[in-house]
Amino acid sequence: MSAGRGPLALVFLLTATAGCRDGAGPRSLEPPPVEVPPLPKPQDLPPDLGTRAFAHVRALVGFGARNPGSPGWRRGLDYVAGQFEALGLPVRRDRFTDAKEGQTFENLVVRIPGGTRDFVVLGAHHDTKVTEGHEDPDHNFPFVGANDSASGVGLLLALAAHWASHAPPVTLELVLFDGEESIPFKWKLDRALFGSRRWVAEYRRLIQKDDAAPRLRAMILLDMVAAADLQLDDDSNSDRDLKSIVLAAAKACGHERYFFRRTLAVTDDHLPFREAGIPVVDLIDLADNPQWHTRDDTLEHLAPSSLQVVGEVVLTALPAVARRYLEAEPAAPDRTEPRGR
Ligand SMILES: [Zn+2]
Repeated sequence: MSAGRGPLALVFLLTATAGCRDGAGPRSLEPPPVEVPPLPKPQDLPPDLGTRAFAHVRALVGFGARNPGSPGWRRGLDYVAGQFEALGLPVRRDRFTDAKEGQTFENLVVRIPGGTRDFVVLGAHHDTKVTEGHEDPDHNFPFVGANDSASGVGLLLALAAHWASHAPPVTLELVLFDGEESIPFKWKLDRALFGSRRWVAEYRRLIQKDDAAPRLRAMILLDMVAAADLQLDDDSNSDRDLKSIVLAAAKACGHERYFFRRTLAVTDDHLPFREAGIPVVDLIDLADNPQWHTRDDTLEHLAPSSLQVVGEVVLTALPAVARRYLEAEPAAPDRTEPRGR
């Protein structure tokens, strides 16, 4: 992922000079208000989401670097697929090769029925940054990617375990993207985002071929969601309404202090979806993240409580996302019934 505007210093500058909106005094720290559907009472929020997610993060970090093609990448993929399968959730392993790069990637795709025909994608990337074989020796170092991006994968696994016994309010597709990271150390857009571009290209093909195919209505991306000092950014490439729903959910959970304090434009796996006209939100902690893309992106800088915060907000936001973006859907069956898995 990239801040899209070069060095982080510039990000802070952009944040600091974001200016006033509508000439009406100091800029609000929050996205502009939109009509947010009423949120349900925080219900069914499993108290162990963060600790479960953290255990997965620990396991993934144990495999070492997980850049595409590496031994850790293979072990990580098998681990994640095995965890979903143990929950009774079939995994589609979409392995593909980028001809230009001569690099094979693998997305993992898991569908969780929620009673709607159309669906929402919840995504995270599973690859880690390549930190070997670069010309500049400063770009070669041991890297385990605890926050970037074992954290998103771990949280999706913990959420999936919840949904395996509590049907989500909307049909979900969990997508673990490969090849998010730029192959060159310095971000290069056309040599990154391989997995998300792949998913969106396949989806576009499918809906062109089949008018009746279920439609994707919104996309939520998790990237670096476990820092002990959690500060999720207000990404200006994310959809305003979707951000407002997330913020309302954060308030409902008492977690708003972790959300949207700094504004920046993030380049991440949500962009191919945005280009396809899908409302997207990237829940990412980038602007104030000293461990980002360094050897210090390790477990000791993470906290299960941060994963708990983000997990609770996702669970609380989903019913409102369903109402806002799938309102034309037929009524779903009783969604509070466990599915008995
Ligand atoms: Zn990264």
